[in-house]
Amino acid sequence: MKRYRVREQMNGIAEPPGKVWFWELAAGVIDADRCIRCGTCVAACPSNSIGVHRMTGLPELVKMCTGCSLCWDFCPRGGLRYEALWPPSTPEVTKATEPFETASEASVGAWKITGGPPGDGLGALLERYAVRAGVKAPGVQDGGAVTAILSALLAAGEIDGAVVSKPSSGRDEPWKGVATVATTEAELVAAAGSFYNQTMALAELDLSRYPALPRRPKLAVVGTPCEVQGLRAMQVRPWATGAHRVDAVVLTIALLCTKSFDYEALVLRELRDRRRIDLERVSKIDVVRGRLVVEYRDGQVALDEPVKDFHGAALKGCEECADFLGRSADLSVGSVGSTVGWTSVLVRTERGRRAFGKARARLDVRELDDVAALHRLDALDKRTALRALQRRFDPDAPLFIDYEEHVRGYDGTPRQPVLIRR
Ligand SMILES: Cc1cc2nc3c(=O)[nH]c(=O)nc-3n(C[C@H](O)[C@H](O)[C@H](O)COP(=O)(O)OP(=O)(O)OC[C@H]3O[C@@H](n4cnc5c(N)ncnc54)[C@H](O)[C@@H]3O)c2cc1C
Ligand code: SF4
Ligand code: SF4
Repeated sequence: MKRYRVREQMNGIAEPPGKVWFWELAAGVIDADRCIRCGTCVAACPSNSIGVHRMTGLPELVKMCTGCSLCWDFCPRGGLRYEALWPPSTPEVTKATEPFETASEASVGAWKITGGPPGDGLGALLERYAVRAGVKAPGVQDGGAVTAILSALLAAGEIDGAVVSKPSSGRDEPWKGVATVATTEAELVAAAGSFYNQTMALAELDLSRYPALPRRPKLAVVGTPCEVQGLRAMQVRPWATGAHRVDAVVLTIALLCTKSFDYEALVLRELRDRRRIDLERVSKIDVVRGRLVVEYRDGQVALDEPVKDFHGAALKGCEECADFLGRSADLSVGSVGSTVGWTSVLVRTERGRRAFGKARARLDVRELDDVAALHRLDALDKRTALRALQRRFDPDAPLFIDYEEHVRGYDGTPRQPVLIRR
C-alpha cells in the first residue's frame, strides 16, 4: 500500500507492503521494553491518536488508529532502521588517528538521519571546540554552553523558544526532568543541567499549551541523539502533520549520550532507597568517565560508583543505540573531550554554525582537549549496539532489516523487524 508518499522516501529500505498499526508498534517496541521514550510516534501521528500515558510515561493510543503506519516508520526502534544504513563501524575506521573530518553530504536524506556513512569518524563536522559560558548560569552541567547559546539566540530573536527539560513540579518526583518549551531566559536557566531520564521531548511539539508563541514560531530542540534522529527524519520527509509543529524547529542540539535511565528505577529505587541518597540535598547528578557521581549542595560527594552498577535501571532500548555523537543534529554537545567545567561542541551544519556564531560573544572558546576520547566512546557505543542487536537477532548476521520477514507475521503474532544475512 502506497497511500503515504513519505513511505516511498524511506531511505530505500524495503517497507512493509501493508499498513502497520499502532498496536504493532506497541508489540514490537513498547511492550518489548525497547521504547526509548523519544516521543517521535506522538509527534508523527497525523490524526493525533497517540498520547503519553499519565502513569507510565509511555506512548498510548488515545483514539482510533487509522493504520497510516507513520508512527512505525519514524520510530527509532521501529521502522527508522538507521542501523540498516549505518552499521556500526569497524574499530579500524574509528581509530583516534583519523584525520579531521569534513562535512559529509548533508543534502542526502540518508545521511541526515545517520549523519554520515559507516566509518565517518565524528560525523559531519564543520568546527569543533571546547566551550564555556563567559558567565555560567547556576545549575549548568558542564560549561553551560547549551544554556548560553539558547539564551543568546532568544535575545537575538533567532528563536522564540526551546524544547528543554525542566525539573518536575511533582512532589514525589525529585530530579525528574520533564519536557517544556522555555520562552524566556529565566526559564532556560531554570532548565539548566542534565536529567538522566527521557522526557518524550518531541510530544511537547504540540504547542497548544503555549498560546503566547507566535503563529509561526521558531524553536530549538535540545534532546538526546535518538530524539534528534526522530525529529530530523520527520523534517526531511514532509507529510500531513497533526498538532505537532515539527516544522517550527530551526535548530537541534544533541546531548552526547550512551544511555538514559528509567526515572523510578534510577533515582527512586537505586539512589534514594538502596543508597540512601537525600535527594533534597542533591545539587548535581552526573555520569562521567564511566562513573555515576552525585554531589550535595555543600560540596560533599554523596556517591561515586561505576555506572555499570546501575545497568538494571538503564533503558533497555538504549543498548541498541549506536549514535553516541548525535550525528543528525546541528550541534552536538557533551562533557567527553573537554576538561571539567567545559562543554565539547561539535558544529555539524550551517544552521549550527550560524547559531554558534550568534552566541560567540557570550562564550569562552578554545581547542578540544581530547578528541580521541570522543572516538573511543563512540566505538565502544557501536560495539555495545552491535552486541545488543546480535543478541536480539541472529549472531552471525550483518545488520540488515528484512521487512518481508517482518510482515510475514501478519497473523496477529507480535512481530519485530528481522535481521537477515544478505
Ligand atoms: C541522558 C543523558 C546522557 C548523557 N550522556 C553523556 C555522555 O555519555 N557523554 C557526554 O559527554 N555527555 C553526556 N550528556 C551530556 C552532558 O550531560 C551535558 O548535557 C552536556 O555536556 C551539556 O552541558 P552544558 O553545561 O553545556 O549544558 P547546560 O547549559 O547545563 O544545558 C543542558 C540542557 O540540556 C537539557 N536537558 C537536560 N536533560 C535533558 C534530557 N534528559 N533530555 C533533553 N534535554 C535535557 C536542559 O534542559 C538544558 O537545556 C548526557 C546528557 C543526558 C541528558
Ligand atoms: S521509541 Fe520513540 S517513537 Fe518508538 S515507540 Fe517509543 S516513544 Fe514512540
Ligand atoms: S543511548 Fe541512544 S537511545 Fe538511549 S537515550 Fe541516548 S541517544 Fe537515546
